Amino acid sequence: MELQQLNAIKSEIRTLGPEQVLDLEAIIQTVISEQIAAISLVRRTQSVIQSKTCPHCRGTDVVLHGKDKNLRQRFRCRAQECRRTFNILTGTPMARARKPEKWGRYLQYMTDHLSVRRIIEAGIGVNHTTVWRWRHRFLKAAANDNTPLLSGVIEADETFFVRSFKGSRGWVKGKAPEHRAARPLGWGATKRGLSNEQVPVLTALDNAGGIYEAILPSLTAIEAALEGRIAGGSVVCSDGAKAYVKAAVAAGAEHRRIVVPTIISHAVKANPVPTKRRQKGRLGLGRVNAHHGQIKVLVNGRCRGVSTRYLGNYLGWHRAMVKGTAGKALLDCALR
Ligand SMILES: [Zn+2]
Repeated sequence: MELQQLNAIKSEIRTLGPEQVLDLEAIIQTVISEQIAAISLVRRTQSVIQSKTCPHCRGTDVVLHGKDKNLRQRFRCRAQECRRTFNILTGTPMARARKPEKWGRYLQYMTDHLSVRRIIEAGIGVNHTTVWRWRHRFLKAAANDNTPLLSGVIEADETFFVRSFKGSRGWVKGKAPEHRAARPLGWGATKRGLSNEQVPVLTALDNAGGIYEAILPSLTAIEAALEGRIAGGSVVCSDGAKAYVKAAVAAGAEHRRIVVPTIISHAVKANPVPTKRRQKGRLGLGRVNAHHGQIKVLVNGRCRGVSTRYLGNYLGWHRAMVKGTAGKALLDCALR
């Protein structure tokens, strides 16, 4: 649109009545959500122009340096020892990713849980490899996004995923990866109980919506994983495993053991126990259990199992969705 035309519209807007302004606001919001990625990039460009900060040396003497072949603004740092050029994506997981005008649409598809194949079929206009790369760039950004410090009432517990080598190159070459026999999809672990086939995932939630999640090398790593993650004076609820008690004490927090009754399903059938309504304000592990239920549905259900290598990415994706506007949250992580 010509500048003159835009200015004409701007002055027209000033003459609108309040109801018309509200109507217009709704339209603008829709357009913003449709062009979310392109708008984020413009915002970023404007903020670099304003702050003049170099992503390489954090210096603040940056000048405009022409545009690249995708018409993206380039900048140059004038600091004596740096002198490097960059664009607004340098240093982010989206550096060198192309076609930002399509990221918004892609993120929408992802929020709707479309698989890579379905996204191609929906006509996004980029190839399979590009969509796959976008997925993992965005997810990788989300994987690194954890609440740094939990406070208030914290629920902590662990859950397990069956170790998976889905898509592993070892299989492509016809040999089983890491000396492990084939396990048909959906079989679950081949050994009973805890073994190396199970990957522990630790989750801690606070009542302000904070989520911290970690894939652990083994259960002995719980205490170390929680170090520095719990604010002093908090109340940590867990099943009472020693690691949680120690982590809470080390952080100067209080620990409460939540006793979960062990219910055997056939016994319940024979002699059903009336469930009590949960009393408001009572401590429990309900939220963390529900969270674990959700990540199981995402990873084992919707995604039909995820290679353990990518498990962290999908957990991050789920956290972004829990926080609300998933597409926007992912984009924010990716451009941080
Ligand atoms: Zn610099």
